[in-house]
Amino acid sequence: MKEKENNIEKNSKNHSISCNDKKCHVHGHLKTRGRIFKGYVIKKFEKRIVIEFERINYVRKYERYEKRKTKLHARLPECMKEEVNVGDYVMIQECRPLSKIIHFAFLKKIKNKGEGK
Ligand SMILES: [Zn+2]
Repeated sequence: MKEKENNIEKNSKNHSISCNDKKCHVHGHLKTRGRIFKGYVIKKFEKRIVIEFERINYVRKYERYEKRKTKLHARLPECMKEEVNVGDYVMIQECRPLSKIIHFAFLKKIKNKGEGK
């Protein structure tokens, strides 16, 4: 009985709403590991967000750098649906491949749209 109470407390610490999503890294069985990226949300779907960030690529022929953009698809668990919107600056972490294009999971929001910068 005591153990059960502790578990509930643990869950409510990070996100007040618990969810039945099996592929939620907070309440479900999904483990995140590997690389972490930060970027701006450019699209939002039911269970997925698309983030974009710029990286620098060296071009040998011109001995100069160019800007390239990377797009990544990340899974958005049901319990965090409300906190993310297009334009926000967020952090995602690699997880096992969940589908052909999704192998990242949403971790947390860093900045709201228009905040900072
Ligand atoms: Zn959850």
